[in-house]
Amino acid sequence: MPPQAVRYRILPKHPGAHLFEVTCVIRAPDPAGQKLRLPAWIPGSYMIREFARHIVQLKAQSGGHAVVTQKLDKNTWQCAPVRGTLTVIYEVYAWDLSVRAAHLDGTHGFFNGTSVFLAVLGREDRAHEVEILPPEGEMYRDWQVATALKSAGAEPCGFGLYRADNYDELVDHPVEMGTFTLAQFEACGVPHDIAITGRHRCDLERLSADLKTVCEHHIKFFSEHSGRAAAARKSETQREGHASKARRREAEVRPPMDRYVFLVMAVGDGYGGLEHRASTALVCSRDDLPRKGETERSDKYRTFLGLASHEYFHTWNVKRIKPAAFSPYDLTRENYTQLLWAFEGITSYYDDLALLRAGLITVEQYLSLLGETATRVLRGSGRHKQSIAESSFDAWIKYYRQDENAPNAIVNYYAKGCLAALTLDLTIRSKTADKGSLDDVMRALWVRYGKQNIGVPENGVEQVAAEVAGADLKAFFDSAVHGTGDLPLGKLLTDFGVEQVLRASEGPSDKGGKAVKKDLPARAVLGARIAENGDARLTQVYDGGAAQIAGLSAGDLVLALDGIKVTGANLEAKVATYVPGAKVKMHAFRRDELMEFEVVLQATPRDTCDLLLRKDAGALERGRREAWLGRISAV
Ligand code: ZN
Repeated sequence: MPPQAVRYRILPKHPGAHLFEVTCVIRAPDPAGQKLRLPAWIPGSYMIREFARHIVQLKAQSGGHAVVTQKLDKNTWQCAPVRGTLTVIYEVYAWDLSVRAAHLDGTHGFFNGTSVFLAVLGREDRAHEVEILPPEGEMYRDWQVATALKSAGAEPCGFGLYRADNYDELVDHPVEMGTFTLAQFEACGVPHDIAITGRHRCDLERLSADLKTVCEHHIKFFSEHSGRAAAARKSETQREGHASKARRREAEVRPPMDRYVFLVMAVGDGYGGLEHRASTALVCSRDDLPRKGETERSDKYRTFLGLASHEYFHTWNVKRIKPAAFSPYDLTRENYTQLLWAFEGITSYYDDLALLRAGLITVEQYLSLLGETATRVLRGSGRHKQSIAESSFDAWIKYYRQDENAPNAIVNYYAKGCLAALTLDLTIRSKTADKGSLDDVMRALWVRYGKQNIGVPENGVEQVAAEVAGADLKAFFDSAVHGTGDLPLGKLLTDFGVEQVLRASEGPSDKGGKAVKKDLPARAVLGARIAENGDARLTQVYDGGAAQIAGLSAGDLVLALDGIKVTGANLEAKVATYVPGAKVKMHAFRRDELMEFEVVLQATPRDTCDLLLRKDAGALERGRREAWLGRISAV
């Protein structure tokens, strides 16, 4: 007989007080006193969040008697030894409207298992069952459930019993409950659900059609046998006949899960996503969703598709191709790896590239998005102080815990990681006469590590990339991944028919990426970020900028420029009416002390990047551009 499953029951007990009640039933508990522990972080979001702080009260009982419990550390409880079945009941406060924790009110409930299910120590490898109950009351009778957890009796979208093979699987399936909108589609024969919570007017037909296109792109991408990835499996396929090979290929063009769920929370203003093995939780602005009657894909909708594409790509890259440091996860503490740039940066590279290759955006739109990413990297001097490998390692205390000094101290391993992925892709294409690419690296990583359930060693990405390139890539990894210099993008892109233009920003709303006039006169700038609403408070002061040199600091409240009152909305524009080099007087409060500063304004740096199709590109360069940005070659 298989060992008894660990059994939970979760009830949205007081939606108004945002409290879930969780009951955990343990048969034959540890005779030395059963220990239970809540994770300190959730995979995909690399920060210690101490979810245990939201457990309001915990009680244990056995055979109708109360059992004494004791806290061993911030995340761990121990119950006194008992002979019979042990039942532990606790409440979880759920009022975090993000994809990382849990949220409950009268409109819906959402939870990640890492926020609500205490692990029964010593039994993590057993099957886990959870009975999901609706809140009590007439007003909740239309509520449904959306989750990728396997049903163990619950009707589709129904309350009832669900199961997971182990604790790790249990907490990798977020659960949504409420009166959400539901849509369904199939991608490569596998059912996909979309559940949208929150008020919205989404054109579900259009959203389903576009998401299907994105999902099928990714599924086919990782099922391809083209290029040098094939070499890795050559010996294997040589042993097979043609017919069985064809059958095997057909069978392989499917995702690594039997079902997938997009859990979407539409709010007034929001953006974020978290990847899971068979689902994703997304928060978006309701305006990001497509509306009936719209024929174009708006910039906002493209942002949403990019986010969905990003999280779906993670189904392979980080949920299955994952660093050895995450195999298995230790949910009690930081799990260090220098490879987050590969999991987030490469995924960021392919999220929008897939939209282009699948025909959902144009090449001009793609280059514009890439230009925005390059601009984001160029605008932080932290890129010269921290490498993306270091940023990955320190994500726990730096990238995820940014303060006012972040642009001066940190490099974003998503944005620079995306550019490193692009640079690596173009480098491999150049070294292999366009026969190999980063696509092949990803497929080889999938075949060697992801499919085999083996963690990627810290040098694994470099090793596989070198094999695909047929060349030593140490110099590339030393500079792009472990170094702090700028990537040689402009030079590489030229050979692929794309021109990189670096120019001065046109103003606060200029994110780069768009082709604008190149010969604007330089504007005067303060070298600081200013809160946009209300008072002119400096939120960040950039290294070496006019504000920092004059002695202004983040947090200072600027009152006047040359004796004239300023606000958050007009300070930057007022500064721009001067010429670079002009000396101005600024009054500001630091704490409650009025201070005066003499500021020598500087010229806007050339930190804005546009990427344009080269009009003078020859046939060779145009061909290379198509091989890179066009559809993936057929099997
Ligand atoms: Zn990601």
